[in-house]
Amino acid sequence: MKDSFGRRVEYLRVSVTDKCNLRCVYCMPLEGLAWLRRDEILAYEEIAAVVRVMAGMGLKRVRITGGEPLVRRDVARLARLISEVEGIEDLSLSTNAVLLAEQAQDLFDAGVRRLNVSLDSLREDRVEAIARRSGVYRRIFEGLDAAEAVGFDPIKINVVLMRGGNDDEIEDFARITRERPWHVRFIELMPTGSNLELSRKNFISCFEALERVRAIDALEPVEGPPGNGPATYYRFPDAPGTVGVITPMSHTYCERCNRMRLTASGQLRPCLFGDIETDLRSALREGRDIAPLIEETLRIKPERHYLIQGSDAGSGGLVALSQTGG
Ligand code: SAM
Ligand code: SF4
Repeated sequence: MKDSFGRRVEYLRVSVTDKCNLRCVYCMPLEGLAWLRRDEILAYEEIAAVVRVMAGMGLKRVRITGGEPLVRRDVARLARLISEVEGIEDLSLSTNAVLLAEQAQDLFDAGVRRLNVSLDSLREDRVEAIARRSGVYRRIFEGLDAAEAVGFDPIKINVVLMRGGNDDEIEDFARITRERPWHVRFIELMPTGSNLELSRKNFISCFEALERVRAIDALEPVEGPPGNGPATYYRFPDAPGTVGVITPMSHTYCERCNRMRLTASGQLRPCLFGDIETDLRSALREGRDIAPLIEETLRIKPERHYLIQGSDAGSGGLVALSQTGG
């Protein structure tokens, strides 16, 4: 699958739910989001049908995301359905890890191999303040321990940077890559309709974060763990893990974009931001061929996103990243 700018698109992020058991300050508003109705959400078989058609067109890699994917019942069943599709070589999952301890083995057995875990602080009070939910810190770390024990590899830790919120932990996160085989990735805060004030006042660039990490010890650029994303990686001498940066704001990596997104309601989006989406759900339920719709969505994939720091211009009216899977 090539788009009209010559980019090869082999990666699909599938959001399985718009719901979440956390309310991260930068992602979801505390209240006021209207949930999708059950019949608006694609069934696992419908998702697998989309993956099958796209695999026939060259799709190779799939990530299951949300909202929080582990709040949807038996997501391992979907993982199994996707793993069975011919041509899919890589299946990964993004989670906040709160429900991971009890599901890690089933997910691994279903073919998920790579995990991204959101963790914005190493301190209990902060984790729970950022997530706006209490009692989750211990469960997140139990989830991470279970994931390591089961054999997920790589495990990537996503840290959304917030000045005054967690930037004083940049060094701690970097140091942990010397102890655990984690790949810590600092992510620049992106503006959405629900976090405008935060993203205006508390933005901190990954370049600044990297400078602070470099002050600890020498960092060498490395290829990084297998993945499909836009991160750049570095390593301390002899560390089992790496430090990565994802810079959607200070540097657009759109020229290398290799992905499309399927929302929980069955809309195929060629870009995280912007308002272009194609309704695959109606086509599937009316028994129409979705291949031409996928080809057309690929053809109109925009050259880049138009996010501007401190404004939601370019976000396409997106209220929260939980709606599109991040
Ligand atoms: N619930 C899962 C999780 O937290 O990993 C999957 C969905 S979440 C929307 C996917 C990723 O998007 C997470 O790593 C999260 O930190 C990131 N994210 C959400 N809102 C963001 C924002 N405004 N700026 C940067 N990253 C954001
Ligand atoms: Fe939920 Fe993930 Fe968004 Fe946090 S980042 S509110 S865990 S969907």
